[in-house]
Amino acid sequence: MSIEIDKKKCVGCGRCRDVCPGTLIALDEERRAYIKYPRDCWGCTSCIKECPVYAIRFFLGADMGGLGSRLHTEKDGDILRWVIEKPGGSTAVIDVDTRESNKY
Ligand code: SF4
Ligand code: SF4
Repeated sequence: MSIEIDKKKCVGCGRCRDVCPGTLIALDEERRAYIKYPRDCWGCTSCIKECPVYAIRFFLGADMGGLGSRLHTEKDGDILRWVIEKPGGSTAVIDVDTRESNKY
């Protein structure tokens, strides 16, 4: 379970580094983010949700039923959009209204 960071998209804001509860992400000498300890990532998705340019993707391996899909999130006002890119090129989208989330 791990993330991948597209260094070409990264703008060096440092949000992913700051939010990772495991201190797993660092910035290189060009202020591009990279994951230092990919094996230690437990997939909390915090860094993915924080990235303003959608440069981080979560790898959905076979162990999670993802069969190699990649997940990232996008924000549209109060909507948090979970975008799953499947290996064959198709995409699945799940919209979550954050005003309604985390209610019990
Ligand atoms: S998914 Fe969570 S644990 Fe993994 S690198 Fe991102 S913030 Fe850290
Ligand atoms: S949050 Fe995104 S843009 Fe900011 S440092 Fe991390 S990967 Fe780069």
